Amino acid sequence: MKVPRYDYHSQFERWDEFMVELSAMIVDGHYVLSGEVAEFEHAFAAYLGCSFVVGVNTGTDALLCSLKTLGLQPEDEVITQANTFNATVAAICLAGLKPVLIDADEDSFLMDADQALAEMGSRTRVLLPVHLYGKPTPMRELLRECAKRGVELIEDAAQAHGARIEGRRVGTFGVLGCFSFHPSKNFAAAGDGGAIATNRPDLQERLAALRALGQAGQNNHVHVGYNTKLDSIQAKVLSWKLPALDRWNEQRRSIARSYRERLSDLPLKFQRWDEGEEHVFHLFVIRTAERDPLLKYLLSNGIDAVVRYPVPIHLQPAFSHWGWREGQFPVAEALARELLCLPIRPNLTITEVEYVTDCIRSFFKGGAINRDYSIPQKQGAP
Ligand SMILES: *Cc1c(COP(=O)(O)O)cnc(C)c1O
Repeated sequence: MKVPRYDYHSQFERWDEFMVELSAMIVDGHYVLSGEVAEFEHAFAAYLGCSFVVGVNTGTDALLCSLKTLGLQPEDEVITQANTFNATVAAICLAGLKPVLIDADEDSFLMDADQALAEMGSRTRVLLPVHLYGKPTPMRELLRECAKRGVELIEDAAQAHGARIEGRRVGTFGVLGCFSFHPSKNFAAAGDGGAIATNRPDLQERLAALRALGQAGQNNHVHVGYNTKLDSIQAKVLSWKLPALDRWNEQRRSIARSYRERLSDLPLKFQRWDEGEEHVFHLFVIRTAERDPLLKYLLSNGIDAVVRYPVPIHLQPAFSHWGWREGQFPVAEALARELLCLPIRPNLTITEVEYVTDCIRSFFKGGAINRDYSIPQKQGAP
């Protein structure tokens, strides 16, 4: 039996109707910042519950443009975490700012909030927490402290579209919230895409110029800008998929629940899952010292498990000039060694979950994987 991680086919409902609309766009020349982009921006802002969304080319550019739009000075400091995807920190460096890393929390696998507050100093301008694996970072205390100290809070919500905490969607707490629509994410374009959410009309205006070569109206270039627009076809794909997003996230939660129940007696740890939060399980991670042999075992049984971020940010060659050392962020280092992502996608079946968890049980407890997992064949299929 094979258990793949992605299934894009199932994400397109009413395919024939979609193809008719897409074909019309292509022959009518709706290509660059067409009505489809504005339509998606409005729909996604309404979904998130914020005033504005600005579509850009990638999640990385969402972070870069966000940092660039705040008028910071070179060497101003941005605090983020050592356990994140490279893009979070690359964007800080590309914006000409100084990244300051914080270790992860043992249980939530999110930024250690106490350490983050302790690191805030006179050069800190931005706090950039990551809602990692789809789990919302608790915002209340961080927002209060940022407001007190004149620090802006930008959310990296690239893995957490639709996740809620205290009844509100992530990406709408900070001054800016950054999203990626990379095909690996919960809310996937058919290629690259990204967006920034904000409630501030001045920032919306600046970002809309910044993504389009700094233009405020034709031939009036008011900023030195980027060329990083959300593609019209990607906007169309995203608008088509948006109505299903909450249902898909609920399906992910239900799969996560099944995994946790079926693995509860094994020597594994899960990411903490708190009351009152809506985790969206971009990734379902398990923590075990046996990570590498378990990965090999699952792959050999057709299960598309994967390790994400085996080298934490502070040990990546690209960032060596910042002088971070091995041992400086011990929790991030342990997570990089011990976390494994099990396949999770909205249409993962209970049979697939059983197969994956039985394989993991047989790895830890020995014994054969001896049930029949074959999917019943349809009678009379052509
Ligand atoms: C995917 C991701 C990004 C970058 O998104 P791209 O669209 O690939 O540029 C940034 N931060 C995090 C946490 C991500 O997972």
